[in-house]
Amino acid sequence: MTADPTCIFCKIVAGHVPSKKVYEDDELLAFHDINPWAPVHFLIVPKTHLASFYDVEAQHQAMLGKMMVLAPRLVRDLGVTNGFRTIINTGADGRQEVPHLHIHVIGGPRPWARG
Ligand code: AMP
Ligand code: ZN
Repeated sequence: MTADPTCIFCKIVAGHVPSKKVYEDDELLAFHDINPWAPVHFLIVPKTHLASFYDVEAQHQAMLGKMMVLAPRLVRDLGVTNGFRTIINTGADGRQEVPHLHIHVIGGPRPWARG
């Protein structure tokens, strides 16, 4: 498991920065976004540092599949029944702010603050 000591999400994975955890296993962590767009807004991240969706390779296939399978399960667990958005921002033009791969999972009754 590689970590970047300057990366905020690696610090969250290591427990050095607090988060409101939604889910955790040996490979993945999900936690509530600190600046939510909607009643439910959490992020699913790999525990290993991977800068962005650009950096995904064949070796990450199973982990990505796991992230995608987890999203509807967790959003349902949080009571979302009327649809949700999944967003992966990638790179500068993709407006990625945190350079550690993450899937936004956003839902709950509208109106939303954003999105
Ligand atoms: P992105 O633009 O896709 O890189 O989005 C990064 C997201 O991470 C934003 O929605 C931020 O609100 C969120 N974020 C940044 N720092 C934290 C943190 N310490 N805990 C939870 N969410 C965070
Ligand atoms: Zn990281």
